[in-house]
Amino acid sequence: MIFFVRTAPFLILLLACLGAAEDIQRFPPPDFESGYVMPATTTPQPRAGWLNYLDLAVLFTALSLASYLVIYKRNRPGIFALTIFSLLYFGFYREGCVCSIGAIQNVAYSLFHANSAIPFVVIAFFLLPLIFALYSGRVFCAGVCPLGAIQDVVLIKPIRIPRWLLQSLGLIPYLYLGLAVLFAAQGSSFIICEYDPFVSFFRLSGRLNIIIVGFSLLAIGVFVGRPYCLFLCPYGAILRLLSRLSLWQVTVSPDECRQCQLCEEACPFGAIYPPTPEETQPIRKNRKQLAMMLVLLPILVALGSWSFSLLAPTFSRTHPAVRLAEDISLEDSTHSETYSDASQAFRDLGQSKEVLFNQARNLRNRFSWGAWILGGFFGFAVAFKLIGLSLPQQRMDYEIDNADCVACGRCFSYCPVELKRRREKKSSRSAPKDQTIQEQ
Ligand code: SF4
Ligand code: SF4
Repeated sequence: MIFFVRTAPFLILLLACLGAAEDIQRFPPPDFESGYVMPATTTPQPRAGWLNYLDLAVLFTALSLASYLVIYKRNRPGIFALTIFSLLYFGFYREGCVCSIGAIQNVAYSLFHANSAIPFVVIAFFLLPLIFALYSGRVFCAGVCPLGAIQDVVLIKPIRIPRWLLQSLGLIPYLYLGLAVLFAAQGSSFIICEYDPFVSFFRLSGRLNIIIVGFSLLAIGVFVGRPYCLFLCPYGAILRLLSRLSLWQVTVSPDECRQCQLCEEACPFGAIYPPTPEETQPIRKNRKQLAMMLVLLPILVALGSWSFSLLAPTFSRTHPAVRLAEDISLEDSTHSETYSDASQAFRDLGQSKEVLFNQARNLRNRFSWGAWILGGFFGFAVAFKLIGLSLPQQRMDYEIDNADCVACGRCFSYCPVELKRRREKKSSRSAPKDQTIQEQ
C-alpha cells in the first residue's frame, strides 16, 4: 500500500508519457542533391535497443547498491567506489547521455507535444532516481550521477560556506528548472543539455565557452563541495523536494549524539544542522513571523508572475520560428535587399509568410502564459523557502537535513560515536571466531 501511494504520481506521469514512448524515428536524413553533407554531431550515436536496456539495468543496480551502501552499510569507501564506476560508465563510456537531469526536458516536451517520440528508457531514467529518493533520499547524487561524481572526485580541500549564502543561492536551481521546462515545453531549446558544463569532458569535445565554465566549476569544486549540484542542478531541485519525504533517512550515526560538532565540520554541503538552543525564540514570535510569511506568499507569487511576464518577449525569441518571423517582418518593413540565412532559405522554399506569422503569434502567446506560470512558480519557491526558515525548529542533536544531504557518506567516519559502533560491531562479529580458536 505504502509503495503504491509513494509511486502513484510517477505511474501517472509514466502513463502520460507512454503514448509517445513507443514511437520511433522513421525518417532517415535526406540525400542532398547539392552534395551537402550533414555535419557530424557531438551527441553520441544511437545504440542498439538492448544496450539501452543494459543502461537501464546498470542504473537500477547502481541505485540499489547506493541505497544499500548509504542506508544499511553506511560505507563511504563503497560509495566512493560506486562514484568512480558511475563516472566511468555514465560519464566517459555513455558520454553523459542518456542522463536523468536532461531527461526533464524530454518529459516536458513530450507532455506538451502529443506527436513527439520519447524512448521508454529516457522516461525510466527520469523517474527511477525520483522513486528511489522517496525511499532512501538522494542516493542518485551519492554515487550514480556522473555530474555529481566528477565534482566529488575533485573536492580536496572543502571550505565552509555561510548558511545564508547556501540558502539564497540554493534558489537558483528552481529558476533553472522552471526555465528548462518552459523552453523544452515550447520546443525552443534544451538548455540543460546545451549548457551542461561537464559533458564536454565526457565527450572530449565541445564549445570553448562551455569547457571554460566546466573547468571553472571544477576549480571552484576543489574548495566548494559540488558547486553545480548546490547552485544550479534542476534535477537536484526535484530530488531535494522528494527526499524530504523519504522513508529511510540518512543519519550520521544511529546511536546517541555526543554533540561534538565533528560531523557538522566534516560536511562540505552544509547539510548538518546544530541542535537548537533550549532558549529559543518565544513561540509567539515564531508564529508572528510565520503569519507574515503566509501573507507574503501570494504577494511573492504575484510579483514573480508579473516580473517574469515582462521577460516573455525575450523568452519567445529563443524559438527559431519567432526569430525568423521577426527577421522577415523587419526585412520587409525596411525593404532590405539582404536577408539573413534563415530568411533566405525560407524565401527560397516559397513557404507562406502568413502561416509563419501565425505560428509566431501562437508561440508568443504560449510564452506569455509560460512566463506568468514560471514567475509564479519561482515566487512560490522563494516564499516556500522563507516559510521553511521561519518555522520553529526543534533539534535535540546534530541532525542531517535530508534535502541538503547528497548522501556522500563523508560524515560517517568523522563521528566518534559511529566509529565506536563500527568497532563494536566488528569485534562482536569476530568474537565467536576467536573463541573457537581458543577452544581448539
Ligand atoms: S544535484 Fe544534480 S548534478 Fe548533482 S549529483 Fe544530484 S542530480 Fe547530479
Ligand atoms: S552524508 Fe555527506 S552530504 Fe550528507 S550530511 Fe554527511 S557529509 Fe553531508
